[in-house]
Amino acid sequence: MLRNSSGSSYNRMGRVIAVANQKGGVGKTTTAINLAASFAAAEVNTLLVDCDPQSNTTSGLGFLKDAGRISSYHMIMGAASAEEALQTTELEQLWLIPSHKNLIGANLELVDVSGREFRMREALAPLRDRFEFIVLDCPPALDLLTVNALVAADAVLIPMQGEYFALEGISELLDTIERIRQALNPGLGIEAVVLTMFDDRTNLAQQVKTELQNFFGEKLCATTVPRNIRLAEAPSHGKPALVYDPRSKGAESYIRLAKEIIEKQVPGVSPQPAGVELQAPAEVTQVLTKANTEEPRGDQATAVEEVPAPVEEMDKTA
Ligand code: ATP
Ligand code: MG
Repeated sequence: MLRNSSGSSYNRMGRVIAVANQKGGVGKTTTAINLAASFAAAEVNTLLVDCDPQSNTTSGLGFLKDAGRISSYHMIMGAASAEEALQTTELEQLWLIPSHKNLIGANLELVDVSGREFRMREALAPLRDRFEFIVLDCPPALDLLTVNALVAADAVLIPMQGEYFALEGISELLDTIERIRQALNPGLGIEAVVLTMFDDRTNLAQQVKTELQNFFGEKLCATTVPRNIRLAEAPSHGKPALVYDPRSKGAESYIRLAKEIIEKQVPGVSPQPAGVELQAPAEVTQVLTKANTEEPRGDQATAVEEVPAPVEEMDKTA
């Protein structure tokens, strides 16, 4: 059951959100893990599906490499059902379908199979009414695995780094989404765009944010995710940040993001349009800007830097 802040609630088929950006290292996996964990912590039954042969979501939740374990590879190849691939996690309301590096082979093994783009959608269909959110972590490529995720999805969540070239390559992703919408999945929309590893102390970051607001309008999340050492450390402990360090700025930001996304789903609060809609009216972007500056963070006091901080310079105060 989903709830909004006013306490109303409703039931629905699981909303499938593909976390995608063909650019590597922009925070897809960190977002998929921590958003899914935050949904689960909000008492929303959530399934996280690792669609990436790198299997970082799988290891990030503490699952060791195991070629014998049923994975998204078996699921997409039709060798096992999604139900058989389900794993429970440390969080009561979070389930995982793990990946394995052999998933890379599916790109080739499915090439001559008819309906190859629908494998994930069909495999997940029997589970949709068991979960309120199904989050798909995509690989950094617009390959058949990402196409399968986008065909299975209701909407795409695009993590982007607040850096100078943030918009570079984004038209390729938007074109792919549009082509999939026209040919394979008419219901596919853009859930949201979220700025990751964002340091709002810098002029550059602010400029990038303004540029993204002009481009994406209301699709740009009010919540931004700061660069935070706990988010980087948590996967090596096999835990989402909210379990590893619930008070960290990183964990808090994903809890806020989950809340923002949940509230978008509740009819009457902020309806979710199905299509790709860019260029929102100026007043919407102003509201987003305001919302995003309402919560001052203690770790962001003074220093101004024009380049994204390397790992060792991250917020070690968590
Ligand atoms: P790939 O394209 O390879 O799948 P990705 O887009 O999934 O990468 P992540 O693996 O989530 O990106 O993040 C890349 C690196 O940046 C990881 O080492 C991760 O721990 C780190 N990272 C991601 N988000 C943050 C953040 N907000 N603060 C600090 N480190 C972060
Ligand atoms: Mg990843």
